[in-house]
Amino acid sequence: MRNDHVSIVEVGPRDGLQNEKTIIASEDKIKLVNLLSDCGFDTIEVTSFVSPKWVPQLADASVVMSGISRHPRISYAVLTPNLKGYTQAKESNASEVAIFAAASETFSQNNINCSIDESLVRFGRVMDAARVDQVPVRGYISCVVDCPYEGKVLPSAVCSVATRLLDMGCYEISLGDTTGNGTPQSIGTMLDCVIEHISVDKLAGHYHDTNHRTLENIDISLEKGLRRFDSSIGGIGGCPYAPGARGNVATSDVVRFLHDKNISTGIDLDKLSLALQFVHSLFEQNSAN
Ligand SMILES: [Zn+2]
Repeated sequence: MRNDHVSIVEVGPRDGLQNEKTIIASEDKIKLVNLLSDCGFDTIEVTSFVSPKWVPQLADASVVMSGISRHPRISYAVLTPNLKGYTQAKESNASEVAIFAAASETFSQNNINCSIDESLVRFGRVMDAARVDQVPVRGYISCVVDCPYEGKVLPSAVCSVATRLLDMGCYEISLGDTTGNGTPQSIGTMLDCVIEHISVDKLAGHYHDTNHRTLENIDISLEKGLRRFDSSIGGIGGCPYAPGARGNVATSDVVRFLHDKNISTGIDLDKLSLALQFVHSLFEQNSAN
């Protein structure tokens, strides 16, 4: 039964590494993605074609994309902030791309230097190109319950941005608790509002683990009908030199949590632990240097 299965999007190589100060060698990133490819994910977010000035960690996006071994049933996704990034993503044979907007006006201004409206216009060009190339586009929304500048974010603001991204052609919206301050109450209230207007099978949960409430937040999301979640191997992303701190919810935690509830994920925990050991070795090795 469909309801007994959850699909997990592994975002560690992008959302995780993007926030790690330790620069990881391209060959190690390639090895990590290859290990993750053996685990059973449908989708792996590999990297981001942003300006190396913004994110030096991901300056080797093309090298990584051309170095990985691809499994035909896995979608290898990349983040594309603009048309230039999209063009590079296309050249690198990305299976799908992702665009991103914020539910908070101040976060949008501070994060990408433009209003929410302006960001959607900018991404319209990416959407037009992707439509011609028949490349699927995923939409991320950040700050879905809480903003570092504005505090509480209104569910109606999330719903409005989500609707616009879907209207532009995104196949799915990933709802990001960027600060990790979400609670089952605030996530539940936000989802109730969004689900009134948007089919739940077009939504994914993307929760950061700042307050260690991500599993509770996933639980309430399951109750509301969500069956797609983003997670990061080892919970990387968020705190330099400390894998697991304030990054995305750790993939193995989510998989175990779901398997304990008799919900299948298709993820092989033994293979996952090999990938996890490799991630730990990367950070141990680098923090010793
Ligand atoms: Zn994130």
